[in-house]
Amino acid sequence: MAHPKQQDATGGQAEPACSAARRRWLFGAARLAGGMAAAVSLPAAAQGAPTPAMPIFDAHLHYSHDAWERVPPKDAVALMRQAGLRRAMVSSSSDEGTQKLHAEAPDLVLPVLRPYRTRGEIGSWLRDESVIAHLEARLARHRYVAIGEYHVSGEDADLPVVRRVVQLARERRLALHSHSDADAVERQFRQDPSARILWAHSGFDAPANVRAMLRRHRNLWCDLAFRSDHALVDGQRGKVEPAWREAFLEFPDRFMVGTDTFTPERWFYVVEHARWSRMWLADLPPEVAEAIAWRNGERLFSQAWGAAQR
Ligand SMILES: [Zn+2]
Repeated sequence: MAHPKQQDATGGQAEPACSAARRRWLFGAARLAGGMAAAVSLPAAAQGAPTPAMPIFDAHLHYSHDAWERVPPKDAVALMRQAGLRRAMVSSSSDEGTQKLHAEAPDLVLPVLRPYRTRGEIGSWLRDESVIAHLEARLARHRYVAIGEYHVSGEDADLPVVRRVVQLARERRLALHSHSDADAVERQFRQDPSARILWAHSGFDAPANVRAMLRRHRNLWCDLAFRSDHALVDGQRGKVEPAWREAFLEFPDRFMVGTDTFTPERWFYVVEHARWSRMWLADLPPEVAEAIAWRNGERLFSQAWGAAQR
């Protein structure tokens, strides 16, 4: 079995962390080690963020067991607030991480239920019937906006465990956060045409294919986590790659941004990711930028969450 780090959000792709990004993470780590108070009190201008900063709905965070050991809940929440996150969807291996973070900041964290109890289950969960009992037990105990993020591709999406996950989401009116190729997305929609699927990383697919999928499925939304091909950022200026611009303008209501903290050190990138997102989003018409930055996530997930709370 491959190393979990390779199996996770990268979908087998090489880590695109250029040395500049790595330096930023290390910088963030050093600042955190130096005390959260100092990091939080840094003026926005010192971080290159425009003021007032546009809110960000981060649709793709994980707070797994090794993360909460290195970045305790208070520090993780401080990073989220420093980033200017309005809300974030969080799923973790195990779910305890999500619950810890939600307890620390119920206004900020939208819990998402991951089938994985540990990192090592990314490949094995598909054929592990005990995953279902785990999900049912958590669903009986806690509230969630979605089930995911889980990894499945091709015909594996028709395995009994995945079918049951799609069914559970339908019964509970939850969305699915699926790290999949287009084929696995199609199969899940065939199982439940009324499913609501958030397609993690937009399937690492090309913008033309993503648009074709969005045209076919009204209940499909896409996160842009852990990819950078849509943004051409140079220093303080950002541009949107032309093929992606067409996708965003055709479907302004279907995209969201996300950091994907699939390793603990990615937590120190949450602030930088929000800043970087604002930079390329500024190249879009303001209403499209706002939709992708936070309004789509709010409309789809926060409103339903808030309505159910009342
Ligand atoms: Zn992920």
